[in-house]
Amino acid sequence: MPYTPVDYAPYDFANRRHIGPSPEEMQAMLDTLGVESLDALIDATVPETIRQKEPLSFGKAMSEQKVLRRLREVADKNMVMRSLIGQGYHGTITPPVIARNIFENPAWYTAYTPYQPEISQGRLEALLNYQTMIADLTGLEIANASLLDEATAAAEAMALAQRAGKSKATAFFVDQDCHPQTIDVIRTRAEPLGWDVIVGDPFADLDPSAVFGAIFQYPGTYGHCHDFTDVIASLHDAKALAVVAADPLALCLLKSPGEMGADIAIGNTQRFGVPLGAGGPHAAYMACRDAYKRSMPGRIVGVSIDARGNRAYRLSLQTREQHIRREKATSNVCTAQALLAVMASMYAVFHGPKGLRAIAEQVHQKAVRVKRALAEAGYTIVNDTYFDTITVEVGAPRDAILHAAEEAGINLRRVGNTRIGIALDEATWNAEITTLLKVMGGVDSGPLPGYELPEGLIRQSAYLTHPTFHHNRSEAEMTRYMRRLADRDLALDRAMIPLGSCTMKLNATAEMMAVSWPEFADIHPFAPAHQRAGYAEMVEDLSDKLCQITGYDAISMQPNSGAQGEYAGLLTIRAYHAANGGAERNICLIPVNAHGTNPASAQMVGYKVVVVKCTERGDIDVEDFRAKAEAAGDKLAACMITYPSTHGVFEETVTEVCEITHAHGGQVYLDGANLNAMVGLSQPGKIGADVSHLNLHKTFCIPHGGGGPGMGPIGVGAHLAPYLPGHVNEGGAGAVSAATFGSPSLLPISWAYCLMMGGEGLTQATKIAILNANYIAKRLEGAYDVLYRGTSGNVAHECIIDTRPLKDAAGVTVDDVAKRLIDSGFHAPTMSWPVAGTLMIEPTESEPKAELDRFCEAMLSIREEARLIENGTLDRDNNPLSNAPHTMEDLVGNWDRPYTREQACFPAGAFRVDKYWAPVNRVDNAYGDRNLVCSCPPLEEYLDAAE
Ligand SMILES: *Cc1c(COP(=O)(O)O)cnc(C)c1O
Repeated sequence: MPYTPVDYAPYDFANRRHIGPSPEEMQAMLDTLGVESLDALIDATVPETIRQKEPLSFGKAMSEQKVLRRLREVADKNMVMRSLIGQGYHGTITPPVIARNIFENPAWYTAYTPYQPEISQGRLEALLNYQTMIADLTGLEIANASLLDEATAAAEAMALAQRAGKSKATAFFVDQDCHPQTIDVIRTRAEPLGWDVIVGDPFADLDPSAVFGAIFQYPGTYGHCHDFTDVIASLHDAKALAVVAADPLALCLLKSPGEMGADIAIGNTQRFGVPLGAGGPHAAYMACRDAYKRSMPGRIVGVSIDARGNRAYRLSLQTREQHIRREKATSNVCTAQALLAVMASMYAVFHGPKGLRAIAEQVHQKAVRVKRALAEAGYTIVNDTYFDTITVEVGAPRDAILHAAEEAGINLRRVGNTRIGIALDEATWNAEITTLLKVMGGVDSGPLPGYELPEGLIRQSAYLTHPTFHHNRSEAEMTRYMRRLADRDLALDRAMIPLGSCTMKLNATAEMMAVSWPEFADIHPFAPAHQRAGYAEMVEDLSDKLCQITGYDAISMQPNSGAQGEYAGLLTIRAYHAANGGAERNICLIPVNAHGTNPASAQMVGYKVVVVKCTERGDIDVEDFRAKAEAAGDKLAACMITYPSTHGVFEETVTEVCEITHAHGGQVYLDGANLNAMVGLSQPGKIGADVSHLNLHKTFCIPHGGGGPGMGPIGVGAHLAPYLPGHVNEGGAGAVSAATFGSPSLLPISWAYCLMMGGEGLTQATKIAILNANYIAKRLEGAYDVLYRGTSGNVAHECIIDTRPLKDAAGVTVDDVAKRLIDSGFHAPTMSWPVAGTLMIEPTESEPKAELDRFCEAMLSIREEARLIENGTLDRDNNPLSNAPHTMEDLVGNWDRPYTREQACFPAGAFRVDKYWAPVNRVDNAYGDRNLVCSCPPLEEYLDAAE
């Protein structure tokens, strides 16, 4: 017989990477649905009126190896230099044990935000370590588990000072020594809220009675270290609050903001082992006095107890957040920088207080060495006090010096016309200092020249005294600590995470690799543009593809999260109105089922939120929408809608809603978080929307990192393009993020995804996402009602199932269902949003049929358990649902439950050998809020727990 080759492409995208079900499985699923073909399903589901006419045409899918070569090509156009620019970003050494075991470890980076505390104890502990570290270093009582970047943290601090302070003033004072990007982001934030920003010298220009708060940089952007104690006292006398933006490494040697009397401290933990990444992602921190904890933005990890009374961690004070308080929330920040906060905390665990202090001392000594040599060479050093940064007056030859330094591989900061800034860091070598001094004509006196810290500012107080920061720090111990924490958590590397609206899809390894390449990781955001040519090329090509996908004309890569995209998009709309005689427009229509960040963002630009009703079927109530748009009249600024709707349905009325908005002069903000249901099939920019954010950490494969990082670029129509945010570094203004392109080192992930999929593959992914969701809806039929469906009876890429009948019949709550899924080895779907008592399931295209089936079996068995409670076979108050999740602890010792151990621990879906064991029983939420503890509990409690 002649040889017959197999009909199979080993590296075909469809089989091997992003598309979960095999062709055979797809067929079986279509059979279950009783649909002839995938295209028939899509035609029935996605309304004709919104369908994309032309297929995406950006080339064929590229193989993984080809994409890696393309990434390498682009990477080679970025120049890896030693950047001593400072301005909030510093060279650092990521301990390899952390780089590999956290940064490059899917157990950490594929986790979701820890809303289900029982399966999140590992990252919650790491984030609690972070909060403890920040509280200690800043000398304040409460810290959150990260904000987006230093500049937005500063803007958040201003808003907190306004909210929590007692002053009636409407101005905010900004130290002229704050980083320029911080000043700009503060200005952007203050303007729509009607707050004046006064930039000046805190020791000469500050009138405390004229402001509700003030921010000081410590050390200043040009290197000075000032003691703000007296200025802060004068602010307090006037009932104004004080914010200090502090470098955490400097705080290892210098008096803390808390000891100066500051109310709030913010800053960037990048230099705690997180690569520069051309501007991000890094974790910004915020700490404040205890009195302001309920007004603080961002997530706060707290300590509570579980059903056995054992210590357990959870996110505390969630009642402050947008998903509950909407426009009254403390901030719109949702996705933050959890993974980077974890890295920074591990850096502190790894080095301990002595190690951090030693690093800070070395950095300072390098600065002393450079400063002395330059002073001896006859230069004037502008700042008389310093930690790591000096500003040098060099006169006319300034540009020649910058150039010569660059030739020698070193970037320095351009300050004014005749000065340069030099910021020394952990990664600066001896040889570099010698080279730098040679360039500047100085003579190197050699290492260890001593200390020149300002006397009154030398830190006396201890920090990181907690045992967590006193492991013996052998690599073996460090590795095991991180592994132990990772094992407590359930991330995508173990099971599907069917979170509606959050699109927890595959983060392919090939997409992730370039993020750690030095050509992407070790680039300073303010390095000369020609050194970032690879980044520019990638940003341009990705923007171009995203424009094609969305049907928009321009993209801004600046927003660091979806919520920041909303904020940026609304600012863009606002600026457009102002330029077109619509400065008075301030009403924003938002449907009742909108994501909480929508109203929270609208509030940030000074818009008045008017809520629009939904119909029984879950669609926007068009008549109510029309009435409210008419009532708003020429005050209508915008509407914010989500498409497909947060109910998981392609609403046919979307074009009408856009038309009504436009007829009244408003702009349409279409929340693009659900773009995974649209790519290749429908384009927001073509169905009537004017602006959308795209969550690259949802649809475009950036991992969730346990609550960040993310990227929320916005696409806009041509008429809005002139009003997109600018950046001081590019000579612009109106920035919403510290860095020009937000968190650019994440972009290779989304770019690689687009390249590996091609237009056709991306469209196929969308179709399979819709197939998978409809398959689940079908399999759960009879056991659970699907709340909303389109006119065809299909759902989009997610479905909402009703668990309220279980409550009525058997007293089983939606919580019980979510926690019981843990016993089966699953993360629960989105709980009680947008409808209380329901679960929103989004399987994504990444999940193979076997995993979908395992999930459905778990859900069906839960329904069956509820039925057994209903008919009295299982006890109403002591059953596998009410006691879920079950731990190993439950199994040992006396078993006195009216159901078996087998039933408890191995429900349908649970793996026999690879069983996931929750490390704690159900966590008591109320206890944690009543007894708020947001830093590592004292040693005695560890001893108690061990007994
Ligand atoms: C996730 C999400 C957001 C917010 O995105 P973040 O990146 O978390 O700020 C906004 N709207 C919807 C519908 C979302 O699902």
